Amino acid sequence: MGLLIVMTGPSGSGKSTILKAVMAQDARLALSVSHTTRPPRPGERDGVEYHFVDDATFDQMVADDAFAEHAGVHAKRYGTSKAEIARLRGAGRDIVFDIDVQGAAQLRASYPEAVSVFILPPTMAALEERLRGRKTESEEQVQIRLQNARAEIARADTYDYLIVNDAVDEAVDDFLAVIHAERRRGTRIRSITVRLLEEGRQA
Ligand code: 5GP
Repeated sequence: MGLLIVMTGPSGSGKSTILKAVMAQDARLALSVSHTTRPPRPGERDGVEYHFVDDATFDQMVADDAFAEHAGVHAKRYGTSKAEIARLRGAGRDIVFDIDVQGAAQLRASYPEAVSVFILPPTMAALEERLRGRKTESEEQVQIRLQNARAEIARADTYDYLIVNDAVDEAVDDFLAVIHAERRRGTRIRSITVRLLEEGRQA
């Protein structure tokens, strides 16, 4: 069974940049594509960054129990469909979930074997600077995101791994190191010792 890697980081933590680099360097990883009711940003494509849906469709999916987790984030709704997890697991991939603290708590409860990683900014000033520098959000959205960042950071120490994004390259290396180490966990690859001992018996 592949790894489930739950990744959370406040808006402006540089999470997307890190994710892009990590995904490009490790072909076994696949990013789970969420559903959201927020409108696409320029350049975002339906089915690639997100499945963009309206509130009625999202409501119907909730009613159909189609989500493994879902949450309201920045006054919009986001969710990971069970179908997406099944699709990527079926393809034998290690799945990365870019989700907020509420969704992460739900996924970690359903999948206790999931590995959780939190991306922190080096300072709150750096976070604010990155949020404003993006120029894709209104002032109201920037304020909502700053407030949410504080609430999310308050829950960061419940995660398995904390990565501080001071220099992006180092944060990417840290993330890849976590994934490599998790792939070597004895509980995940016990099949290897079973096979070796089987060989011993046959000899
Ligand atoms: P953005 O609108 O900037 O793409 O994402 C806003 C926040 O929503 C990010 O912190 C992201 O991690 C979170 N998010 C994205 N997809 C999901 C999801 O499927 N579930 C949950 N709970 N959060 C999500």
